Amino acid sequence: MIVMTTKEIDTLVHEEVLGFCVHEWETMESVGPDVSFGEWLHTCEKCEAARTSTGHDLSPISGLVPAYSRDIAVAWSVLLHFVEIGFGVRVDQPFDNGRWRAEVYSKCRQPFSSPLFGEGDTAPQAICKVALLRAGVPV
Ligand SMILES: [Zn+2]
Repeated sequence: MIVMTTKEIDTLVHEEVLGFCVHEWETMESVGPDVSFGEWLHTCEKCEAARTSTGHDLSPISGLVPAYSRDIAVAWSVLLHFVEIGFGVRVDQPFDNGRWRAEVYSKCRQPFSSPLFGEGDTAPQAICKVALLRAGVPV
């Protein structure tokens, strides 16, 4: 078992499961007519993304990822991703010890396809675990 921080888990879910970039914004140039009130163009150091802002410094929002492993609302979006690509999902609390279990399973009942489970102290943790397993990330 690999011990990861919540930030590491959230980053892996964002990039490896959902395919998003954890942007690292770099300020490129002012694109406004007047520098003092102008818009600034920023590009991500890791992908081709670009955005503008009226503020010069986007470093406070570089590297931000949703709290998949701590917030059930964003963890739910991970389950919906698997639903959209054709999997079935299930979240329950089947144990007497209070731990949660999340399952992502193939809807076509292939004889040798076993469902994947993730377990956690909270439902978001269980969802992140099964999502990473389904994406082939060892957890
Ligand atoms: Zn990026």
